[in-house]
Amino acid sequence: MRERKTFETDAYARELKTNILKVFENKGYYCVVLEDSILFPEGGGQPGDRGRIGSANVLDVIHGHSGDTREDIHIVDSLLEPGPTEVHLDWKRRFDHMQQHTGQHLLTAVARGRFGWATTAFHLGPDLCDIELDAPQITRGQRHELEEAVIGEIIAARSVSAFWVTQEEYKTRDVRSRGLPDGHQGDVRLVEIQGLDINTCGGTHMSSTSELECLKLLSAEPIRGGTRLFFIFGKRLRDRMEAHEQRGHQLRTILGRPDDALAAAIEQRIAHEKELERSLRHTEDELADLYAKFMAAEPGTLLVRHFENKDAGFLQKIVRLLLELDNNRAIFVTAEKDGNAFFSLAAGSACEADIPKLGREAAAVLNGKGGGSGRQFQGKFGDLSKLREAAAILRAGVK
Ligand SMILES: [Zn+2]
Repeated sequence: MRERKTFETDAYARELKTNILKVFENKGYYCVVLEDSILFPEGGGQPGDRGRIGSANVLDVIHGHSGDTREDIHIVDSLLEPGPTEVHLDWKRRFDHMQQHTGQHLLTAVARGRFGWATTAFHLGPDLCDIELDAPQITRGQRHELEEAVIGEIIAARSVSAFWVTQEEYKTRDVRSRGLPDGHQGDVRLVEIQGLDINTCGGTHMSSTSELECLKLLSAEPIRGGTRLFFIFGKRLRDRMEAHEQRGHQLRTILGRPDDALAAAIEQRIAHEKELERSLRHTEDELADLYAKFMAAEPGTLLVRHFENKDAGFLQKIVRLLLELDNNRAIFVTAEKDGNAFFSLAAGSACEADIPKLGREAAAVLNGKGGGSGRQFQGKFGDLSKLREAAAILRAGVK
């Protein structure tokens, strides 16, 4: 087994010829141990790499147990044989991780150096990254100041390098570290941003801060007494900007307004929509009132009507108004809207119809479901072609 893996000495290596030493299955996954690797195992907030080993796709790389030893385990999607192989790295994904991870080193160093804020956590997500700083509050102005300071260090193109020191030498150096892991053996890997920061890290890094390209601090929010700061570096920032531009173009086309008038245009539309809804509700109330009066003037012990493009709420209004106008008769009203059909059966206090029984019978004919007790029964149904049949049954029942 090599003491140093290629991903530790050359973060830019994308292909490697090496040997598969061990192959085993664990919990249904095919696992591979390599003599050497360019694939970084998950650690220090940086996700494990993806790529290929021979003909198999790499699903993840972790530093874990295989038998009694801890080593880098490559989880692959098909069975491989021990022996010579070629390893390929998903470089696009790794490059992004290197930008975000190296960027975090720089951001952490500047936050500590300029503002005295220590980083207590780091998270590299698929869309956003964040660090937690031991600052109870970070103002908008401080956020901009921090961003400008980091941009200054990107422009300064400071070299970034990784090297190993003995544990004795490590103790004599001024290293930013949260301490070595329990049981750490052998040399300590340090990552230095020239003239700015040295810390312990096993991850993969750009060779210069200039390769970080750019930074945007997106937002800050309080967390556990400190502040969580969301950020993105480099290509990820340019991709996000591209998505913003496309969305902006869509919105400008839809609303026919320039960027700085979009928010006001949307607010205006929402206010207009609310006004329309209020007006529609008022018209429906008036309509229900008119229909109720119109139906109350009809002859017969059962009043029947179907409404297009109305919902259960409208039926409830009609029933309530009719019962107020006339408590001698029964009412059977139905409606349909957006592919749904509703019914409501009710009787006034002076009408002797057995509404729960008749409601169940009507629901059965209409291929529907409903419920109620006493003087009202309502529900939804499926078969609009059975409306006449249901009305006939009800007419017979309320006589
Ligand atoms: Zn690192």
